Amino acid sequence: MHKFHVLIIEDEKNIRNFISKTLSSQGYRVSCASTGNEALSLATSLCPDILLLDLGLPDIDGMKVIRRMRSWSNCPIIVVSARTLELDKVRALDAGADDYLTKPFGTSELMARIRTSLRHSNPNGNGNSLPCHLYRAKGLKIDFSKRAISINEESIHLTPIEYKIVAFLAQNSGKVMTYSAVMNNVWGPYNESDNKILRVNMANIRRKLEKNPAEPVYIYTEVGVGYRMADDEENIKL
Ligand code: CA
Repeated sequence: MHKFHVLIIEDEKNIRNFISKTLSSQGYRVSCASTGNEALSLATSLCPDILLLDLGLPDIDGMKVIRRMRSWSNCPIIVVSARTLELDKVRALDAGADDYLTKPFGTSELMARIRTSLRHSNPNGNGNSLPCHLYRAKGLKIDFSKRAISINEESIHLTPIEYKIVAFLAQNSGKVMTYSAVMNNVWGPYNESDNKILRVNMANIRRKLEKNPAEPVYIYTEVGVGYRMADDEENIKL
């Protein structure tokens, strides 16, 4: 059986060992780097399936590692960092990181994020992630081929813009999408930098989808960063 290969980039030995043990016990193959330069050279020689990246490294900043990786590789990168500022998250995601986890984190949260990122980078890995499949979560169903949305079989009417936003988030379900990623996808690269129009649309979407828009169960807000859609139920089993 093919084992997914994870490269852990972390200079703190205790955290590195902890993540490494956890992943090994879950059936992953693990390699470790304690500096950014070591990580870049291992990433080139080992071609891992996914990178777990600390930002505060002794030689070069993790942000630089993301940019250097992205110049030649699509390998998923999950940032695992003590930096909790929204701006740090936005920068890392916009530089090409796939996800962002702040320390301290729970093991099950880390495992879920890894599965989600691997699913996106291996769309045929579990045979059910063709781009035109259905999205299903908690009674919400999206049929991408018909552009139809329903909740508990009752169809929901969205405007074309609202549909584009929801479809984009659903196709990236489980992952946080920054405001600018959503804006670029829906309105194109020359959109206004102000994300007010997105927030207005999201308020309308939530009124239509959520029982209680203040406590959403389908589309979560990552404050100051963007949105994350509930993971597709088909894929949680992966
Ligand atoms: Ca560190």
